[in-house]
Amino acid sequence: MDDCIFCNIVKKEADCDIVYEDPDSMAFTDINKQAPVHILVIPKKHMRSLAEIKDADLPIIGHLFDVVNKVAQQQGISKKGYRLVINCGIESGQSVWHLHIHMLGGRR
Ligand code: 5GP
Ligand code: ZN
Repeated sequence: MDDCIFCNIVKKEADCDIVYEDPDSMAFTDINKQAPVHILVIPKKHMRSLAEIKDADLPIIGHLFDVVNKVAQQQGISKKGYRLVINCGIESGQSVWHLHIHMLGGRR
């Protein structure tokens, strides 16, 4: 989607600090960090929110959690622990309409 900032990041048309990438997913540092480690894990395929995923998307959703595990190890927060947040819909405050998992860690 042309007007989606995360699709532009996937296409490398927008600047960002990519920490992980594979054919189906990407992880990058949040532009407005809320914790010492604040990374967003996204599917490369545009999906507006968790509420709008299709059955065919379920394998990629599972894959995203494997990516979370890999990135946690890479960032050194796997053993210490971290928080995952998925905002879904207007009342959650979702502001970017491309599914993403927030990884927050590096402090209690
Ligand atoms: P949401 O509120 O939708 O769950 O979270 C969207 C997140 O995306 C926010 O934490 C925001 O800081 C981050 N974000 C928005 N635009 C950009 C951007 O252009 N680059 C990066 N790296 N993060 C962004
Ligand atoms: Zn998108």
